[in-house]
Amino acid sequence: MIYDLIIIGGGPAGITAGIYASRRKLNILLITKGFGGQMARKAVSIENYPGFEEISGAELTQKFEKHLRKQKIDIERDEVVKLKKVGSNFLVLTQSKNRFEAKAIIVASGADPRPLEVPGEKKFIGRGLSYCVVCDGPLFSNKTVAVIGGGNSAFETAIFLSKIAKKIYILEYGAEAKADEENQEIVKKLKKIEIITDAALKEIQGDKFVNLIIYQDRKAKKTKKLKVEGIFVEIGSQPATSFVKGLVDFNERDEIKVEFETYQTKTPGLFAVGDVNVGQYKQIITACGEGAKAALSAYGYLQKLRNQKN
Ligand SMILES: Cc1cc2nc3c(=O)[nH]c(=O)nc-3n(C[C@H](O)[C@H](O)[C@H](O)COP(=O)(O)OP(=O)(O)OC[C@H]3O[C@@H](n4cnc5c(N)ncnc54)[C@H](O)[C@@H]3O)c2cc1C
Repeated sequence: MIYDLIIIGGGPAGITAGIYASRRKLNILLITKGFGGQMARKAVSIENYPGFEEISGAELTQKFEKHLRKQKIDIERDEVVKLKKVGSNFLVLTQSKNRFEAKAIIVASGADPRPLEVPGEKKFIGRGLSYCVVCDGPLFSNKTVAVIGGGNSAFETAIFLSKIAKKIYILEYGAEAKADEENQEIVKKLKKIEIITDAALKEIQGDKFVNLIIYQDRKAKKTKKLKVEGIFVEIGSQPATSFVKGLVDFNERDEIKVEFETYQTKTPGLFAVGDVNVGQYKQIITACGEGAKAALSAYGYLQKLRNQKN
């Protein structure tokens, strides 16, 4: 069977694309590793999605998924590992060795947390080291933990952990944290949280679980140690685009170049929306808007294909 459209990703962009495309009576498959994407990982409430003054990422994800599942759309929980062009169609290969074919594709695979790339990181993933405080935070009840990073995500992670952990260190590479004033004010009032600036993480150590981090105090030019039982990584994200190489152009940050308005890439019939593309202002609402526009563009592309064949 050849689908009209395959959507890759079940975050805000992919889900909205699915809802819009299904209302055009297209034959659609949505493949995703999970639902909600970064929205589901949000540590504090979302307060800028219209219609919901304050809602948790988990609850908004449930509402999005429920809305999607009301549509006539096939859904596969899987990871796309490769996208290829075969004739005028696209072939999608997945981690569980499935192969799917479609006339058009919307890539909405968003972004993954950026890794630390220090010794010990890989060894301790799931053994005290986490990229998702909403998923793993509750495991650190009454423990001493470190949050790596000094932006809003890092501060929100520390605020979330302040209700669970005994002590929280925020390790910021620069001389000052970059989180906005509101988050800085909240953190200042939470005595459990200590900010260490000018800290360049060098290594993570432990036995079965993390028990020590080693960092360079860039100001004092000294190597220092910190005993912690958990580490949360919040140093930004990187676009999840490895499976699409060869079919699209990237900018220097590995974001997919698209034509704005249609969200088509350099390959006709291949669209990219949300955090994977070069667009600025990466937010839930903008990802949804792009998902809607790309679904309608894909519909236009498929109509043209049909007309050419008749
Ligand atoms: C900590 C944090 C807080 C945030 N707070 C806010 C906020 O308050 N308000 C706001 O508007 N925005 C916020 N954002 C930004 C917002 O979450 C993102 O802009 C938005 O989620 C992007 O949506 P997306 O669908 O493009 O990508 P994502 O949300 O990244 O979703 C991508 C989806 O694709 C799937 N996927 C990835 N690779 C593959 C693959 N190879 N195969 C199959 N599936 C794949 C993933 O599992 C995921 O479901 C926040 C982001 C973070 C990290």
